[in-house]
Amino acid sequence: MDAIAILRELKSRGVRFTPQRQAILEFLLETKAHPTAEEIFQHVRAKFPGVSLGTIYNTLNMLKEHGHILELSYGDMSSRFDGNAKNHYHLVCLKCGRVLDYDRPLLALEEEVGRETGFQVMSHRLEFYGLCPDCQEQALN
Ligand code: ZN
Ligand code: MN
Repeated sequence: MDAIAILRELKSRGVRFTPQRQAILEFLLETKAHPTAEEIFQHVRAKFPGVSLGTIYNTLNMLKEHGHILELSYGDMSSRFDGNAKNHYHLVCLKCGRVLDYDRPLLALEEEVGRETGFQVMSHRLEFYGLCPDCQEQALN
């Protein structure tokens, strides 16, 4: 869904949308960087100097509750946010913290797990940890 479709859908559910909230949504839809709330704040503040961190968090929570974004939490590190709400996988660099998409569909696994265990699977999360190509190169120098 693009920003306009999401805005329309939320409006039909009575969610109020300000230009700031729209800027947060648009940034998440366009970036592949999986930014933290702080990074989203810095980005949106460049255009809307009056925006508060509270607005960022409220908007992220609202978009998450309506299923339009994903929150990727990493224990004690701060969460990262993803404008692609479809289940997909991530590569996490243990050195620079970069989070990259890995878009190959492995969803057949849910059915397999369900079949083999009798568990009613609603979702799953899969991440690969290691070193990104840039960090591997640095390690060699
Ligand atoms: Zn790296
Ligand atoms: Mn992603």
